[in-house]
Amino acid sequence: ASLEVSPKPTVLTWNSGATGGGEVMVAAGPCGVESREQTLSAARYVKRYGAQMLRGGAFKPRTSPYSYQGMGEEGLRILAEARAQTELPVVTEVMSPEQVERVASYADVLQIGARNAQNFALLQEVGQQQKAAVMLKRGMSMTLEEFLMSAEYVLAQGNMRVILVERGIRTFERATRFTLDVAAVPVLKSWTHLPVWIDPSHPAGKRDWVSALALAGLAAGADGIIVETHPEPEKALSDAAQQLHEAEFAALMERIKALLPAL
Ligand code: PEP
Ligand code: MN
Repeated sequence: ASLEVSPKPTVLTWNSGATGGGEVMVAAGPCGVESREQTLSAARYVKRYGAQMLRGGAFKPRTSPYSYQGMGEEGLRILAEARAQTELPVVTEVMSPEQVERVASYADVLQIGARNAQNFALLQEVGQQQKAAVMLKRGMSMTLEEFLMSAEYVLAQGNMRVILVERGIRTFERATRFTLDVAAVPVLKSWTHLPVWIDPSHPAGKRDWVSALALAGLAAGADGIIVETHPEPEKALSDAAQQLHEAEFAALMERIKALLPAL
């Protein structure tokens, strides 16, 4: 992952856009796939407002085993339909090594969640396939050095298409859900050739604060953001408080477009 080994930035390209080459990329969509209607609706409007990638979890890594766990393979099929309709590449989470092949047969980007960021068997498995890129979230208690070591587990297996995502860490602060470590962006960018993104949704925990964190991340030099939005956030089965309404997402996209010339 080191810039000393490979001084040229890693640029990842899809039909909808690229990351790592200077432009900003936005992945957006619901926390979880909950129904065909919900996901297709979100996919259509995130595309309309300029997102270049659709997010949505079919397998959800919930803190409590009694919380909504996701739709599983049916959710993957819905994501594939959303991709076919919008031509947006899809990022979705994979939770275990056994799931990798199946999830990769539907997804363009395999998300490794914060809770699995040091699941080395899973990291090696996503590293061994070449079909999909890998979006690696920082674990909530990981140092940046440990984060890069997790990325190495993927790279060492041969898959060089890795995006790093700062998604907030545990600190003493309880007002926000996690503390967004904005400094992770310039630090990582000085160490690694991999694209560095920000997830403003999970550290905020509350939709009112999401846009400020997204803009802060981009101002700090992030190559992209992955943000949660839901057609009816109040009814969401996971992360209801932090998912943006359609109008809030549209407003965020306008603010990003206004910010871009200054970056
Ligand atoms: C998510 O993206 O919905 C998610 C669970 O993220 P994280 O792993 O960063 O908590
Ligand atoms: Mn979520």
